Amino acid sequence: MLTKNDIVQVEISDLSHDGSGVAKIDGFVFFVENALPGELVKMRVLKVKKQIGFGKVEEYLSKSPYRNEHLDNTYLRTGIADFGHLDYAQQLVFKQKQVIDNLYKIAGISNVSVNQTLGMEKPYAYRNKAQVPVRRVNGQLETGFFRKNSHDLVPIDDFYIQDKAIDQLISFVRDLLRRYDLKPYDENEGTGLIRHIVVRKGHYSNQMMLVLVTTRPKIFRIYQILEKLVSQFPNLVSIIQNINDKKTNAIFGQEFKTLYGKDTITDSMLGNNYIISAQSFYQVNTEMAEKLYQTAIDFSDLNENDIVIDAYSGIGTIGLSFAKKVKAVYGVEVIETAVKDARENAKQNAISNAFYTVGTAEEAMAQWSKVGIKPSVILVDPPRKGLTESFIKASVAMEPQKITYVSCNPATMARDIALYQTLGYQLKKVQPVDLFPQTHHVETVCLLTRKNVAGYVNVDIDVKELKKDKLPPKPTYKQIQAYVLEKYGMKVSTLNIATVKDELGLEKQFSWKEDGMAAKNRPQCPKEKHDAIVDAFRHFNMTP
Ligand code: SAH
Repeated sequence: MLTKNDIVQVEISDLSHDGSGVAKIDGFVFFVENALPGELVKMRVLKVKKQIGFGKVEEYLSKSPYRNEHLDNTYLRTGIADFGHLDYAQQLVFKQKQVIDNLYKIAGISNVSVNQTLGMEKPYAYRNKAQVPVRRVNGQLETGFFRKNSHDLVPIDDFYIQDKAIDQLISFVRDLLRRYDLKPYDENEGTGLIRHIVVRKGHYSNQMMLVLVTTRPKIFRIYQILEKLVSQFPNLVSIIQNINDKKTNAIFGQEFKTLYGKDTITDSMLGNNYIISAQSFYQVNTEMAEKLYQTAIDFSDLNENDIVIDAYSGIGTIGLSFAKKVKAVYGVEVIETAVKDARENAKQNAISNAFYTVGTAEEAMAQWSKVGIKPSVILVDPPRKGLTESFIKASVAMEPQKITYVSCNPATMARDIALYQTLGYQLKKVQPVDLFPQTHHVETVCLLTRKNVAGYVNVDIDVKELKKDKLPPKPTYKQIQAYVLEKYGMKVSTLNIATVKDELGLEKQFSWKEDGMAAKNRPQCPKEKHDAIVDAFRHFNMTP
């Protein structure tokens, strides 16, 4: 039996979805930081649970030919580049495999080929946005990144995957804050002024925005600071203060104040100009976001008669890239300022056939159905939790020829595709696109088309029903078991899952009573399994 601080020789057999090496020893699954498949290492045991454990490398006995030896470990420890120790070509292969595995394990799909991941020629310094905490380290104000799973700040100058001009601005701001003796935020004490520095930069326009997140409105000697910033960085067209006095991990508070210049910056994508405000969602890798959108355009195979729904439209970047090729675009987005930006963006680009609504995607589908809008293409680009069952049913009821799904989470995407397949749509094309080189994040575009067979599945839609923002489709017991097996290398039974569901008050497919299981006879769920199942529930968004 292995215990803490034991040192064992192990071979790494796999890579977990977030970049840890996986080693199997005597029925245990160990997650080992900074270890790659094929490597033989002496591992120190850090922690052992019933069936899983964590370890770190004491010595490499052999190294993978795919190891990037040049990576500074800081980028692994902070998670800035949690895949940075793997050769870039292999990162792309791994991401393609992630999509293939999710489609197979969660949706049972193995007969649709998944294209090779589209990657970057220069996969560094690509981020157009930075969000950097400001804290005191060894008595001095520092900017950097938190160590993984902690709030210990690691001071960093070169952020590796961020535009170098952004790094320079951050260092300059840090030096000014030191010079004027402004106090960094201390989250334990709840004291200090400066919490975060947020920077955005237009990839093509080079315009920059700086947001200083502070705990209080007053910034001592702000005019001197602004003057120095503006004279040093002529591209800095917008300086904003955000006030966040809450004890929270959310970066921004409610209040934004423009201290200098404009409230927004402008940038362009696929030939359209966009206005971007501090809070709006805007893809952080412009070069690859253009490839992502272009893939969605190509998959949708648009013509001038098409009516397109752009669900989860943000500031309109995807729909407006479609608009000039089609008859009309209808977009929906839940954040009001983003919709305002989308409307303004349409105007700025002389696009008059794109219409944006504020609200949840489900509400908008109900509205559009009511007024008889018949889309030929429905494009969706939801957040990580994916679509809801009611959205999927509403989209099927509109009978579009094509559904183009842009996803940032292959697991929820596979779950949603599984439901679309049961409702008369078929998965045709899958293209992973690498928007986040050096990290574990995977972005995918899929095309689903309507099956042209008689005897459709008829979906009854009740408009009132659609308005309720329902939880996403529930995963099956099989999907939960597959997830736990994949992530923790552990088998759990349906009874284990039902026990945990019971405890959390989630709906089950059977009741203990029917099964004759009085409380005292119920099987106990071991702690490791229990925790893994709770993680799976969270992964599938069954619990927050
Ligand atoms: N398509 C855009 C934004 C995608 S990000 C782009 O490429 O830039 C997902 C967007 O969905 C976010 O802007 C988020 O605010 C929005 N969103 C989240 N939940 C939503 C819901 N239930 N209904 C509509 N929009 C939602």
